[in-house]
This record gives sequence, structure tokens and C-alpha cells, in this order.
Amino acid sequence: MGGNTKKLIQKYNLKLTKSLGQNFLTDDNVVKKIVDVANVSDNDLVIEIGPGVGSMTTELAKRAKKVIAVEIDKRLIPALQENLCEFSNVDIVNKDIMDVNINELYDKGQYGSIKVVANLPYYITTPIIMKLLEEENDINLMVFMVQKEVAQRMTAAPGKKDYGALSVAVQYYTKPEKAFDVPPHCFVPQPEVDSTVVKLNVNEAPPVQLINRDFFFKVVKAAFGQRRKTLVNALHNFKVLEKTKEEIKEILNQLGIDENARGETLSISQFAQLSNLLFKSS
Ligand code: SAM
Repeated sequence: MGGNTKKLIQKYNLKLTKSLGQNFLTDDNVVKKIVDVANVSDNDLVIEIGPGVGSMTTELAKRAKKVIAVEIDKRLIPALQENLCEFSNVDIVNKDIMDVNINELYDKGQYGSIKVVANLPYYITTPIIMKLLEEENDINLMVFMVQKEVAQRMTAAPGKKDYGALSVAVQYYTKPEKAFDVPPHCFVPQPEVDSTVVKLNVNEAPPVQLINRDFFFKVVKAAFGQRRKTLVNALHNFKVLEKTKEEIKEILNQLGIDENARGETLSISQFAQLSNLLFKSS
């Protein structure tokens, strides 16, 4: 795997592109550990985002029923095909993942679990994760290598400095767990940042009841959009609401939330209660 990645890069004279987040894994132990975290078994469909030249794809193909690898860069496809030539259970899709409808990639009812595994391109990490979380699909588990700071944001608890809109979104849709850190020397070329593998177990049912999900996320965005402001001021500036400060204070009082609280101290269930009350009274 790792040695093979370097050989393929040389053989095909590939100039890796920073703007596409092309840092390829060359450490076989890290590859195996990621696939272990995803607990890939022979009844699984694995969707891999950004297979590169297949550092991880071969290991996924050995263990999964089927692998669908979505790679944007057509220059990499010949090397990827060569690396995967012994496997008949891999489909390569040469597309931007942002343009892919996950539901149209495979036939339903053939797999025990649908898993996404990816060493993500760091320039587009959050949009990819938000797309997979927000669209209607059957994904059960996602295992991502991301920049260490992004992993900290995904897993942060209320009140912590990394807690923000991404934490709320990830924790609304999934139960995130940090798996392990990966240092820069495990990649070619080496990224300038540390990396972390995170596992997101997709919730079968949402952890809180919402009257309107879009409105909930708008309230969350408004609360974190002005981090240094109190919740009362942040929500007062949130034009959709058209509420006076007194009205907002009254709603916070009803929920037992301190009038001087800042958004970053609210749990997901407090955000849910708050957005439900604001929605009902709007
Ligand atoms: N999985 C390989 C590995 O671990 O060695 C490569 C990982 S590299 C960090 C990210 C990969 O994602 C690159 O191959 C890059 O070309 C691809 N990529 C970047 N943007 C993409 C997008 N929007 N859709 C699909 N693939 C993308």
C-alpha cells in the first residue's frame, strides 16, 4: 500500500495538487487502523471520497462487499485503476462528491451497512460533511480523517472553546468519537497541519424533537455568528425573529436560561427548546 502509493506517483509522474487537498497516505498501519475503526465487513458497502491512487481503497476492497470510490481528479484514474486491477468489487466514479447524489450510487437492500470512509481533502471538509449529514440518505457510519482542529470542533461539548455550529450539527445527526491522531509524516506530501481520525455513528432518530429543523439551525447559526455577544443580543440581531430584547429575555426565562448567557454555553437540547419556543411565537 504505502510503498505502492509512492511508486504509482512516480510511475505516472503525478504532480499532486495542493488546491485539491492531495496529501496521500503512505503509512500502511494508519490505513489499517482507519479501516479497523470503520469495522468494515463483507456485508458492507463503503463509499470512499477521494481515493487518490488507492492507498486506502485496496484495504477497503479486501474487507467490504463493495467499494464505490468517488475521485474528482481524472489524472489519478489510470494509477487508481492499476492499483485496483485485482479487485472486481470496486467502482470508480470520476466526479466531484458535491455533485453526487449518494442514493443514486447503488441499489438499495443489498448491504448490511452503508459506510463512508475518507481521508478528506481539507479545503472542503465542512461542506462535504454537511452535505452527507443534511441530505436524505441511508449512511450508517462515517469515518473521516480531518484536520485536528476540525475534529476538536466536531466533538466539542457545550461551553468549550471549540464548541460551535459544526459541533451542534454533527452532534444532532451523529454520535462523534475521536479515534486517533495522525502526524504529518504519514503522508506525501506532508500537510502543514496535524490530522485526526473521527468516527461518526449516524443517529437512527434525532436526539431532540424539533418543530422546524431549518429554523433550529438558523437559530444556532445566529447564536454562534456573534460569539462575543450575549444570546439576547445575538437573537435580537437575527432579523427573521423581529423580537424585542424583552420578548427574548422572557423566552429565556421560561426555559430557565440565564439572560446573560452566550450561545456557546447552550446544549443541543436547550437550543431545541429555544428554537421550538421562538418558532411557535414567531
Ligand atoms: N485517499 C487517498 C489517500 O488517503 O492517500 C487520498 C486522500 S487526499 C487527502 C484527498 C483526495 O480527495 C485527493 O485524491 C483529491 O483529488 C480528492 N478530492 C478533492 N476534492 C474532491 C471532491 N470535491 N470530490 C471528490 N474527490 C476530491
